[in-house]
Amino acid sequence: MQAWVIGNWKQNPATSHDVKALLDDLLTAVSTKEQSDIAACQLMVAPSFIHLTAVNERLKGSSVLCAAQDISAHSASTGAYTGDCSAQQIADAGATWTILGHSERRQYHQESHDCLLQKITHALTQSLGVIFCIGETQAQYDAKQTLAVIDAQLAVIKDLLTQQPELIAGLPARLIIAYEPVWAIGTGKVPTVAEVSATHQHIKQTLASFNAALDNMTVLYGGSVNADNADSFAADSMIDGALVGGASLKAESFLAIAEAFSRAMA
Ligand code: PEP
Repeated sequence: MQAWVIGNWKQNPATSHDVKALLDDLLTAVSTKEQSDIAACQLMVAPSFIHLTAVNERLKGSSVLCAAQDISAHSASTGAYTGDCSAQQIADAGATWTILGHSERRQYHQESHDCLLQKITHALTQSLGVIFCIGETQAQYDAKQTLAVIDAQLAVIKDLLTQQPELIAGLPARLIIAYEPVWAIGTGKVPTVAEVSATHQHIKQTLASFNAALDNMTVLYGGSVNADNADSFAADSMIDGALVGGASLKAESFLAIAEAFSRAMA
């Protein structure tokens, strides 16, 4: 089993020069790390659309994978959808994965169940892996609705399997769930490891109940993971890695998180 540590760069860095500098730092650090330090960890970065091609070029020959942060809901290939970028275009740019359903997209772009169902279908039909983000808001957490919210969000996967049963074959290798409590993203606040562990167990059981092929799926934690708290999350067997925002913008902190998960796998 390997751990996954994925950097969601969001709308950063500001310039292509800064993207190149971040990648140079990352690749230098990866190559100078003793292979064993991060050997049990699959690294991935998710830059903005506009930087995807350049990032993929730079990552060629390295072990670091590249993901988009979103894809078009309207078409998997081409069409009159101004401002959108399709799964086919993302794959053509060299990315092999895409983040979908991030809480910032749910909040600022009103991404709904149907929209996410479309996006996941398009991604899978273009052979992109999907990092599907789910998680409750602070108000939902306070009202102890976490599991109910997660069940509603995971219903997208259930509906996907009902509508497109043929997609099940590739799904275990192409779907990662990222549990990200909205209130923990970029705030420095984190749930306890025990809370995350119980939620991940619920997510894994729920996916397995949809189809036996989805037994023991990869579930990452995201929300204010940093070099200081990564060890505690990594130590829990239900937490298969991390989706990292802020701390992924510095090679040093990103790799410190990868080292924590790699250590824990040993
Ligand atoms: C995220 O946005 O996916 C995220 C986890 O951000 P941060 O690590 O900054 O909380």
